[in-house]
Amino acid sequence: SITLDSVTKRFGDDESIVAVDDVSLDIEDGEFVVFVGPSGSGKSTLMRIVAGLETQTEGDVHIGDSLVNELGPRARDIAMVFQNYALYPNMTVEENMSFGLKMSTSMSEAEIEEQVTSTAEMMDIGELLDNTPGELSGGQQQRVALGRAIVRDPNVFLMDEPLSNLDAKLRTTMRTEINRLQNDLGVTTLYVTHDQTEAMTMGDRLVVLDQGELQQIGTPLECFYRPANRFVAGFIGSPS
Ligand code: ATP
Ligand code: MG
Repeated sequence: SITLDSVTKRFGDDESIVAVDDVSLDIEDGEFVVFVGPSGSGKSTLMRIVAGLETQTEGDVHIGDSLVNELGPRARDIAMVFQNYALYPNMTVEENMSFGLKMSTSMSEAEIEEQVTSTAEMMDIGELLDNTPGELSGGQQQRVALGRAIVRDPNVFLMDEPLSNLDAKLRTTMRTEINRLQNDLGVTTLYVTHDQTEAMTMGDRLVVLDQGELQQIGTPLECFYRPANRFVAGFIGSPS
């Protein structure tokens, strides 16, 4: 599970920018939670705090039974997929996928190769292991980015608008793919999107943020039919 307890993040010399404002929430193991809100509402900042890439100004973050406030990203067993996949351009697909494993585990070369190969096959990029990212389409690069995250077998997935660079058709395919993977692997997933379809269909629960504040957390249908306030109703397009 992931628990945020009154998490606040301020930026700026005088800490006048409140990116995340006193957010508390509980995410269960294996849950798929989608985060939505206008640009600047604190979604990415919240993901970065959970990942350990940013430290909250106030509040506590628990992963499982551990208070992780002091832990860096490597110690958190989390894999992140960003909008701009950030693949290493000079490495092959295979090297991109195995890099993290080589850095952080005690697996043998053979075990790493086996794990990379089976993950690549699962993601349908098995034929591309010797190519470099520049030789791949956007969708293939996206699969590599997902494969690179999956291959580490993390407890938690953080995805920040992972499909926003893809065309509509591929986005539909990848949504299904991500949901299938999440079901198969049972990984707790936090997923940020600006896409209304993704918000309403992909997650077990929806978190709605505005100006850093949590507006509502509930199933997509609850948020749609029983919005907590006018902001949520307007943002989600609830019937009035
Ligand atoms: P988007 O949908 O556009 O990606 P977001 O919901 O992810 O937006 P954040 O990136 O979390 O929003 O930003 C929340 C607020 O914090 C914004 O006002 C932003 O300008 C501010 N902010 C984020 N990172 C920093 C930083 N490193 N320094 C100063 N301000 C920051
Ligand atoms: Mg963002």
